[in-house]
Amino acid sequence: MLRLANAEQRIPLAEFDMHIVVIGAGIVGCATAYQLLRDGHTVELVDAQAEAGRVSSFANGAQLSYSYVEPLASPATLRALPKLLFEKDSALKFTPRLDWRQWAWGLHFLAACRAAQTQSGTSALLELAQLSRQTLDAWMSEQAWEIDFARNGKLVLCRDEKSLALQAAQVRLQKSMGSKQEVLNAKQCIEREPALAASQSAFVGGVWTASECMADPYKLCQNLVQRISTKAGVLRFSTQVQSIELRQGRFHALHTSCGKLQADACVISSGATTPAICEPLGIRLPIYPIKGYSLTVPVIQPERVANCSITDLGLKTVFAPLGNNLRVAAAAEIVGHDLTVAPKRVEQMLQATESLFPGACDLSQPLTWAGLRPATPSSLPIIGASRVPNVFINAGQGALGLTLAAGSAARLSKAISQG
Ligand SMILES: Cc1cc2nc3c(=O)[nH]c(=O)nc-3n(C[C@H](O)[C@H](O)[C@H](O)COP(=O)(O)OP(=O)(O)OC[C@H]3O[C@@H](n4cnc5c(N)ncnc54)[C@H](O)[C@@H]3O)c2cc1C
Repeated sequence: MLRLANAEQRIPLAEFDMHIVVIGAGIVGCATAYQLLRDGHTVELVDAQAEAGRVSSFANGAQLSYSYVEPLASPATLRALPKLLFEKDSALKFTPRLDWRQWAWGLHFLAACRAAQTQSGTSALLELAQLSRQTLDAWMSEQAWEIDFARNGKLVLCRDEKSLALQAAQVRLQKSMGSKQEVLNAKQCIEREPALAASQSAFVGGVWTASECMADPYKLCQNLVQRISTKAGVLRFSTQVQSIELRQGRFHALHTSCGKLQADACVISSGATTPAICEPLGIRLPIYPIKGYSLTVPVIQPERVANCSITDLGLKTVFAPLGNNLRVAAAAEIVGHDLTVAPKRVEQMLQATESLFPGACDLSQPLTWAGLRPATPSSLPIIGASRVPNVFINAGQGALGLTLAAGSAARLSKAISQG
């Protein structure tokens, strides 16, 4: 291992196995640290929390949504925006803040709502999702992972013909990009998932994708840190990064609540806080938090719950059978870094669950959670080098952090290896 102290030497970074410090033990940081170790580097993973996966990767929708990666910014979103913003009980909420980052993010989001950008974004995200599937499959082929993984497919339900037509158009576009999906009518949806026969949620049809998977995000983080530790990676929990010290324009050390940590390079993958950590280095990132909620409820009548993941576009809610529980996730709130669980959202999700799967779950004591999707306006994550030569970024996976973590890690590790 060689310490790269002098920028003037212009040594390609990864001619050598490096000592790399990774900030953030969410799903993206854990995957990054694991891949860097696999590729021969020495790694220290640092997180402010007492264990991995406690922030936005704790109780998300659990969907490895490899074929549903269409950017949020699209002409269809733009058309629906007035209704989404002003409708009572809308899944979308925007609370204006005295924060230029929120406004800048919003303006860039509006600018990204163009058909060409949505199409190129879909293509880029499908490619990254494919890399993610291959990378996670390769990791899992080597040993058993206890992450409630299932390759059980996903059904997206549409409430009306207009929404089904939009989904069908996306299926046609993605077919040309290699995705295999089927458009179904309501009867075919029920044949695919008999539990839907009892549903009180109205749907006219849907899209079935057999190859979609799911996994418990917290368990995946825990499995990753266990393997990081087995591979002699250093885990530093309860360690808050306070600042990053540069010397001669290069990364020198992290200053943390537990002292100074020196390394050859640094990866910043701290989810929604990534811009705040980067800003003092002159690195400006268009990442803003989009808050969402989940419930986890015990299944008491398994035959009344779908075996696959379901996204109900009418209810604007996703459902995933996770072990003996049902994970329910919903809502997109642009309200800053607030993590309060709003009782109204919990009530909406309980009603949605009872409406789609009547009598299937014990709804009396739901485990409730709120998390922040670290989102970019284009939905494309930021993976790679920054303006500081040995500082790398892996952040901004937004609504797809679980899905894209393994692929983002593989892509970043390759970028570091290529110098
Ligand atoms: C309701 C909801 C449902 C979702 N459903 C899905 C889904 O079904 N499928 C999917 O693919 N994605 C889903 N997502 C998105 C996914 O959860 C996120 O993209 C992902 O968790 C982001 O991971 P991350 O590692 O970037 O951030 P985080 O998980 O937030 O990790 C960042 C880590 O950095 C640490 N950190 C921050 N600042 C510092 C500091 N200064 N010092 C030290 N440590 C620091 C934090 O403690 C944290 O552990 C969902 C998100 C939400 C909110």
